[in-house]
Amino acid sequence: MAKVVIIGVGGVGTVAAHKCAQNPDVFTHIVLASRRREKCDVVRDAIVREAEKHGRKLPVIETDRVDADSVEDLCTLLRRHNPQLVMNLALPYQDLTIMDACLECGVSYLDTANYEPRDVAHFEYSWQWAYREKFEKAGLTAILGCGFDPGVSGVFTAFAAKHYFSEMETLDIVDCNAGNHGKAFATNFNPEINIREITQNGRYWQDGKWVTTGPLEIHTTLTYPRIGERESYLLYHEELESLVQNFPTIRRARFWMTFGQEYLTHLRVIQDIGMARIDEIDYNGQKIVPLQFLKAVLPNPQDLGENYTGETSIGCRISGKGKEGEPMTYYIFNNCSHSEAYKETGMQAVSYTTGVPAMIGAMMYLTGKWNKPGVHNVEEFDPDPFMEQLPLQGLPWEEFINPPLEVDKID
Ligand code: NDP
Repeated sequence: MAKVVIIGVGGVGTVAAHKCAQNPDVFTHIVLASRRREKCDVVRDAIVREAEKHGRKLPVIETDRVDADSVEDLCTLLRRHNPQLVMNLALPYQDLTIMDACLECGVSYLDTANYEPRDVAHFEYSWQWAYREKFEKAGLTAILGCGFDPGVSGVFTAFAAKHYFSEMETLDIVDCNAGNHGKAFATNFNPEINIREITQNGRYWQDGKWVTTGPLEIHTTLTYPRIGERESYLLYHEELESLVQNFPTIRRARFWMTFGQEYLTHLRVIQDIGMARIDEIDYNGQKIVPLQFLKAVLPNPQDLGENYTGETSIGCRISGKGKEGEPMTYYIFNNCSHSEAYKETGMQAVSYTTGVPAMIGAMMYLTGKWNKPGVHNVEEFDPDPFMEQLPLQGLPWEEFINPPLEVDKID
């Protein structure tokens, strides 16, 4: 018997809920809790309809409401349901309150994004790593960053280190969305979180220190499998911080994401006219945050799925020395179709590629494979059982041994 509480039923939470329900032998009891209970009811009803359509066995599914900014409210929820694990699929702002509530109520924890304070767009693990001793002493496990990137990107890197490399030297995480949702401008996950991330300075690891670049300053054309060439921009992404610590032979680590010209033009205008600001302004005597207001008028990422065509392709390109000390390159990736993801869960591939790994991480914990008291990033666990589940749960991966990596042309 394993009971999980899923907090947040946006794009990612909805996918994770569907996938947990598809594995009723592991997830025997699921509680969906979010700011608005009605939203959880809608997701539960869709899951029940899907299960009936396919004649599938269902776990027990309950719904509830919670304000995840309040430790007290969270503790009331956790005491009412008494789960083994909380899957935090709300927003990065709630990571610490949910971790505090987990400690208070003796529940393990999993999330897909590092904590961010609301008033400064700053990405680092220090706030959550500060909980290591507390989780260890309580005998509880916290699994950080278990989406796709962060998440599968770290598992792919750990898999490469375990099976192919004696020493990894360079790591380039490459994230391509070659999909088309037909809207002039929309973000693929929570717009506030997404725009905060993209408008930051870029940053990468080189020879033992961080090098800072202007936002989207460095870019190059990379070729993605079954997609072709796409302009790819260097961003800072949180998993770089833990990966260079956990694999200290890596001398250069970078993260690349593709953007179309239309998207970048909109983004530039949004910034130029002040709509990306995250500080409060006075509007007719009321305090508003421009980026939060923008979120309210942009398309909801959860509604993009219906006519979304094309695929995502996310992977790791690694170079270094193979197990016998020979020079080696390696590229491991997953391609995911927006329309297939939509058919299965009602959500597009960006939510799907995050929600599925979150479910697998929870499965790893509940089946005892990733149960290690303390606070851990995904690459600290054995990658093999997770890699086995990825194709079974809808995210098949492929690998190229010794391919050209393209990334060195930018040195
Ligand atoms: P959404 O905005 O679609 O969903 C967030 C959900 O959390 C909503 O249901 C929202 O409720 C709920 N929520 C927000 N605040 C609270 C609160 N105070 N109390 C209770 N519930 C709350 O976001 P996404 O699904 O797109 O993203 C979810 C998470 O996944 C984010 O942290 C994001 O950064 C992360 N992510 C990670 C990726 C990865 O690869 N690692 C990729 C993509 C996303 P309401 O609907 O009422 O607002």
